[in-house]
Amino acid sequence: MQPSADDLWFVPLGGTGEIGMNLNLYGHNGQWLMVDCGVSFDEPLTPSYRRVKPAVEDRVDDIKHRVVAPDPKFIAEQKDALVGIVITHAHEDHVGAIPYLWQRFQVPIYTTAFTAEVLRRKLARSNLANKVPIIEVDGSESRQIGEFCVTWLAITHSLPEPFALKIETPVGTVLHTADWKIDANPITGKPFDPSLFKALANDNVLALVGDSTNATKPGFSISERNCYDGLLSTISPMKGRVVVGCFGSNVARLISLARVAKKTGRYMGLYGRSLINMYSIAKQQGVWPDDLPVVDPVHLGYLPPEEVLAVATGSQGERHTALMRLAADAHPHLQLDKGDCVLFSSIIIPGNEESVLRLSKALQAKGVTVIHSEDSPLPIHASGHPCEEELKLMYHWVKPAISIPVHGENVHLRAHADIAKACGVNKSYVGQNGDLYRLAPQPSIRRQVVFTGRLPVNQS
Ligand SMILES: [Zn+2]
Ligand SMILES: [Zn+2]
Repeated sequence: MQPSADDLWFVPLGGTGEIGMNLNLYGHNGQWLMVDCGVSFDEPLTPSYRRVKPAVEDRVDDIKHRVVAPDPKFIAEQKDALVGIVITHAHEDHVGAIPYLWQRFQVPIYTTAFTAEVLRRKLARSNLANKVPIIEVDGSESRQIGEFCVTWLAITHSLPEPFALKIETPVGTVLHTADWKIDANPITGKPFDPSLFKALANDNVLALVGDSTNATKPGFSISERNCYDGLLSTISPMKGRVVVGCFGSNVARLISLARVAKKTGRYMGLYGRSLINMYSIAKQQGVWPDDLPVVDPVHLGYLPPEEVLAVATGSQGERHTALMRLAADAHPHLQLDKGDCVLFSSIIIPGNEESVLRLSKALQAKGVTVIHSEDSPLPIHASGHPCEEELKLMYHWVKPAISIPVHGENVHLRAHADIAKACGVNKSYVGQNGDLYRLAPQPSIRRQVVFTGRLPVNQS
């Protein structure tokens, strides 16, 4: 299957119909461009969206694997037609599969400095150290990659250097939003700049391929700055140790917490490899503010409780993570007692309710106060994805002919398509991995014509 000079195609191999392991392909004139190449965690090999149509699958594989990547067979079998891989930002669901899958493609990767550093460190732990050509692009640059002219458009999300992409071909232009929200105060990076997207109204954008994660939520997402205020007000009156569970990659949140620690006279330490790694990259890339110290976590156990602020991984109740160890009194550096508090500055990802409940109960049994963002009267977590009103603004600015909701389960994709329709977008295609979205010359969707699947991969 090859796109002709008249065609512009979009084919998702991962991330459409599910949240996680994004892998997108754009096809034009015999060439393909890959956008993102990510993983998911604790997933079975048969996706839930496939189970409702058992005819598609011969057998259902229910065993959960620690790390799962999309099966790239479709593009690996025609890798000579693949001109490059663009990585939009450094989250695992966008970059995490490169160390496992790149060997099958062997093409250059285009991304910005922060994401490049995250990727280099991942590759250094794999057998691909120094073997992968990573081309660092500037945040406002355009690059001709084969038949595709790609322009990086700065956007806001929950980590440094998130980008949307304008992808131009002679037969049509696509805005690939990747993960985004409108944040006027994102803590890392510049505030959201609407002018970049308003300008696209003059570009005759054929399709907007966009984030659907929070399309079912009304209103606007809250700013990272509000989250900082909420954390400060929550932590200020506390007298015991404070431990904050947060996603390892949430650099903005880490900086907010470091500010809170400074304001409340606490020392901040990090527990968990992914947190320490992200902090170290943020420092190296000049993203981490110089006036916010982080102490060696070994020291936290010796400090008076009111001077401790620990940030820990494991907010989903995963085994062998820092929060689990703290709950089990098995952490080498810190012990929690009655009067201490654990804040979950994160959401409970659907499917993890039981493990999070187990973790909370273990902590409460020790007399530790547990506050989940879902129950907190003040905002202690901010999502990095756009709610309904943000999606509406984007559609009003960009005015695409077609809406293609991605990065979500079917319910999110449908909600996103409804929003696009309400904004006057005439066509939208709600599909899933393996569908062929034909954007030009005649828009249409052919369902389930491309092979997809999942591969278990071993995390290095
Ligand atoms: Zn993301
Ligand atoms: Zn994502």
